[in-house]
Amino acid sequence: MYIDAHTHPNIYAYKRFGISQKDLINDIEKTGIISIANSLDIASYRKNRILQSKCAYIFASFGIHPWKAPKYTAKLGKIEALIEKNELIGEIGLDRFFVSDRENYEAQVRIFSFFLSRCREKLISVHTKGAEREALEMLKRSGNSRVLIHWYSGDRDTLKEMISRDYYFTVGPEILVSEKIRSIAKTIPENRLLTETDNPGGPESIYGRTFMPDLVKRVVRVLAKIRSADRDELKNRIFNNFIEASADLSLCRKIKFLSPGKY
Ligand SMILES: [Zn+2]
Repeated sequence: MYIDAHTHPNIYAYKRFGISQKDLINDIEKTGIISIANSLDIASYRKNRILQSKCAYIFASFGIHPWKAPKYTAKLGKIEALIEKNELIGEIGLDRFFVSDRENYEAQVRIFSFFLSRCREKLISVHTKGAEREALEMLKRSGNSRVLIHWYSGDRDTLKEMISRDYYFTVGPEILVSEKIRSIAKTIPENRLLTETDNPGGPESIYGRTFMPDLVKRVVRVLAKIRSADRDELKNRIFNNFIEASADLSLCRKIKFLSPGKY
């Protein structure tokens, strides 16, 4: 089974992308790609919950994206209630690359640290763009150990330290075009490697068009090539990595149920 450990199915819309949510669900049902539906805010989380109720392969994750942090600093009670209800958390983190307004940074830190202090046992998907070192320092202070670093593109030293702390890394479609991402992906130990698409917005920002979830198959193909690995073996390895990362969560039992014969 393929794992798309970081995607945003709620953002697909026929008007914007020519792909309706119904088309998307049919496609995920057909391909059987485990899809971790990350949220940017409470509204997108609610949409992802609806998608989860319609498709066995979609698992909603609750988070407040750093871009949305300023809107939520006065709503911590609401956030706390939703954190309690969820074992999957994301997308959370810091962004100093796409966000140039420094006034937002304080809100980002407040929201991220609020999540970290309440999510020590949860599986968290972390955005670190342009703030890799600061995000790592916050992760270290909070003691979260079940961490998925999303689309890492930062410096080598921070990467090495994240690897030494046994974080997982979700590698996505930029690997198809970027030497830097390929080089990072080669460095990640095999037992910490995961895959993602960040659909539909992530690939759109690179390629100017939208893709279906099977984009994750192309990611695995390139990963296998650059690591000189067998594609099916690597696919299975990535699947097992996700099982290990999510072990003891109810999500893990559900995924095992979806892959009969394997467990
Ligand atoms: Zn994302």
